[in-house]
Amino acid sequence: MNNINTMQQNTSDSLLEKATRQHTKGHNSRLVLRTIYEYGEISRAGLARLTHLTRATVSEVVSDLIELHLVEEVGQGSVAVGRTPTLLSVVDDARQVAAISVTNDQVRGALVNLRGVLRRDFSRTLPSLDGDTVLATIYSLVDELIQAADRPLLGIGINTPGLIDTAAGTVVRAVTFGWVDLPLRALLQERSGLPVYVANDSHSLALAEYMFGPGQGTPNLVVIKVGLGIGAGIVIGGHLYAGEGYGAGEIGHLVVEEGGERCKCGNQGCLETVASSAMILRRARALAEADPASLLHRLAVDAAALTLADVAAAAEAGDEGARRIIAATGRALAVVVASLVSVLNVRRILITGRVAALGEQLRVAVCDELAHRALPALVQGTAVEVAAMSPDAPLLGAAAPLLTYELGLERLMQRPPLPRAAVEQATWAGTSALTAKDYDA
Ligand SMILES: [Zn+2]
Repeated sequence: MNNINTMQQNTSDSLLEKATRQHTKGHNSRLVLRTIYEYGEISRAGLARLTHLTRATVSEVVSDLIELHLVEEVGQGSVAVGRTPTLLSVVDDARQVAAISVTNDQVRGALVNLRGVLRRDFSRTLPSLDGDTVLATIYSLVDELIQAADRPLLGIGINTPGLIDTAAGTVVRAVTFGWVDLPLRALLQERSGLPVYVANDSHSLALAEYMFGPGQGTPNLVVIKVGLGIGAGIVIGGHLYAGEGYGAGEIGHLVVEEGGERCKCGNQGCLETVASSAMILRRARALAEADPASLLHRLAVDAAALTLADVAAAAEAGDEGARRIIAATGRALAVVVASLVSVLNVRRILITGRVAALGEQLRVAVCDELAHRALPALVQGTAVEVAAMSPDAPLLGAAAPLLTYELGLERLMQRPPLPRAAVEQATWAGTSALTAKDYDA
């Protein structure tokens, strides 16, 4: 009896050891790849220094990565004395991700490389919002992307509006398309045989900003997307926080005005009833129609054609009505931003989407109100920005989980800063000026 037990013990020990060795190897391999990815060009000695792995381990791991065509030798570095080291770099086009972003009017897909550069870009207008039609459109785009891929595919990343169980890859509920408990990952995996990651659209934007955004990143940030709807993505410690029920960042229905306007959710005075792009425009149009002498009226040939850019221009030129609208929008957003800053103590909040057209004036309005709504020390340490993201951001956010979970690539924050222009060229290449419609449903 004892003998058998001992034998079993030995067998499981050796299996465990083997598994541990494999795990360690996998861990080292991801660590080395991630470090090369973050530093751009680096020598084996530099890798050993940064990763605290031995030179021998680094050499072994690098050989494997070169064999997988993920890493290449790119030339010689320089040293004051001794042998010049060979520099290593990640092969940016070694793999591709089939990224798909579903909005209320189109399904857009692209092949994205390891640096977030779009290699091929496809899109389909949705003929209807019927759930089956949308799914069929996604299928045909997936087939087309797989066909067009000229590098090994890491997998498929897809985002859509709605409540997404990211662990199961299920769309719990997407009202627009009538989807309830749609097993999107399972369906796409069955069709393609590839790993699939499903995410909510606002959550994806936060990941895009974290992974590929210009400038020095921070591992903690919130991206608030304000369009027809309002949602936020929360990245904490470099990882998306989706919430226990996958609804983290569903801030559109926080009540910001007691006894305010009735919302489609049934409550009154929700953030969306004050700050959504449609509500801002509705108020601006009413003002323009009511006062033919106003700048708002003169800027818009037809009140119905009034845009958020017109509202910003009118306010800039001194139109009191336009200024009041932006101030009210800023106040409502500040109520929510104050909560986020106080609960999470994040240092960076990016407000994006259609309201980015209101620019600096909206930022000032949010910050003015924020100063009275949260602990000054917390507010002072928080950067609030109002800016448009690249129209490619939803696709980059869809691709990001594949890079992180399949290859271990993520942003390290302790690197020396790169010149901003170089970062933009490397990560946002191929993008053009913003058109809100391109990325904002
Ligand atoms: Zn509501």
